[in-house]
Amino acid sequence: MEKRIQLSTPTMHGEEIEYVNEAFARNWIAPLGFNCDGFEKELSEYLSEDGQSPHALALSSGTAALHLAVKLAGVKRGDIVLCSDMTFSATVNPVVYEGGVPVFVDSERETWNMDPRALEKAFELYPSAKVVMLVHLYGTPAKMDEIIDVCNRHNAVLIEDAAEALSATYKGKKAGLFGKYGALSFNGNKIITTSGGGMLLTRTAAERDKAFFWSTQSREKAPWYQHEEIGYNYRMSNVVAGIGRGQLKHLDEHRALKESIYFRYKNSLKDLPVTMNPYLDCSKPNFWLSCMLIDKSSRVEFMNIYNKLNDANIESRPIWKPMHMQPVFKNNDCIKVEKSFVDEDIFSRGLCLPSDIKMTEEEQSYAIQVVKSCF
Ligand SMILES: *Cc1c(COP(=O)(O)O)cnc(C)c1O
Repeated sequence: MEKRIQLSTPTMHGEEIEYVNEAFARNWIAPLGFNCDGFEKELSEYLSEDGQSPHALALSSGTAALHLAVKLAGVKRGDIVLCSDMTFSATVNPVVYEGGVPVFVDSERETWNMDPRALEKAFELYPSAKVVMLVHLYGTPAKMDEIIDVCNRHNAVLIEDAAEALSATYKGKKAGLFGKYGALSFNGNKIITTSGGGMLLTRTAAERDKAFFWSTQSREKAPWYQHEEIGYNYRMSNVVAGIGRGQLKHLDEHRALKESIYFRYKNSLKDLPVTMNPYLDCSKPNFWLSCMLIDKSSRVEFMNIYNKLNDANIESRPIWKPMHMQPVFKNNDCIKVEKSFVDEDIFSRGLCLPSDIKMTEEEQSYAIQVVKSCF
C-alpha cells in the first residue's frame, strides 16, 4: 500500500476550527479562557450521571492530570503506591515525581487490567499503602466492583487513569467516575484529541480549585506574585481547548467506528489461533485500540507479524511492556498471584493492530490479509 495504514491518528471534522477561529477573533490565545471553560463544562456534562457531574480541570496533558491527582491524594516521599503494572509509563511517572514508590500489580486475563486478587495480596505485603493507581488499558474497563471493594476494605484512595478509556462504561457508569480522582488524555493518538492535553476529574469543587491553584504556579491571592507552595504551568491553552470542544461532539461516533473496527478483526481472525483483547459482559469498552493475542499453542511470534505488517506499510505496536520489566523500575516490586506474571505472558504474545477510524474497510481487509499470511 502506498499510504501507510496507521494505528490511531487524529480525525478532525471541521467544527474544531470554528472554536479555534473564535479564539483568534477574540485574541484569546493565552491559557485559560472561554474554550477551556466550555470544554470543561461540556466534558463534565458528557460524563454526568443521575444529575451528578464531576468537576473537570483542563490541563496541558494527561500526565499533568495524573500528577495533580497524585498530589491531591497526598502522596509524600517514600509512600507506597500500588500501580497497574501493564501500562504506559505516564501512569506511573507522576507517582515518582512526588517521591512515591510504585509497587506494581499484575494483570488478570479477562480485561488485561489490574488483578483485584493481586491487589489484595499487595495490601497484605504493603499494609501502609494508601493510594491505588489503576489504568483501563486500551479503553477496556477493569474489574471495578472487585477493585473498589479491595480499596474500600483497605481505606485506600483510588486514582483512575482513564486516559485511554474516555466514553467506555462499566455497568453503565463511565470510566473516570469510579476513582476519587480521574485523569483523561487528549494526546494526538487518543479517541479524541486536542493535539495535546488532559483533564482532571474530581468529586468536589474544593479539590478542583486546589489543583487549579497548583496548575497556575500556586499563585496566592495578592496583587503581586505571592507563593507559599511550589506550582506548575499545567493549564491548557484556550486555542487547543477549542479543538477539544469540536472533537467532543464526535466522541460517540468515534467510539462506534472503533467498535466496528474491533468486530471486523474479531470476525475475520476467528479461524486463526488468536483472540482479541477481552472485556467483561457488563462493560462497554471504547475499543480505542484493537489488539490480538496469539494462542500459546501457536509458534507464530508477534514480532513476525509486526515486521510483515511493517513491510506492507502497516503500523502495529507491541502491547505496553510491563513496568516491572522496564530498567528504570528494576528495583520496584511487582505482585502476582499466578505462578508467573500474566502480563509478561500477554506482552509476549500480543499485538496492537491498526485502529485508525479513517481506515477504510478495504485497508483493514488488507491488514487482515497480511496477518493471515503469517499463519
Ligand atoms: C496517553 C496516556 C497517558 C498520558 O497522557 P498524555 O496526555 O500523553 O500525557 C497516561 N496514561 C495512559 C494509559 C495513556 O495511554
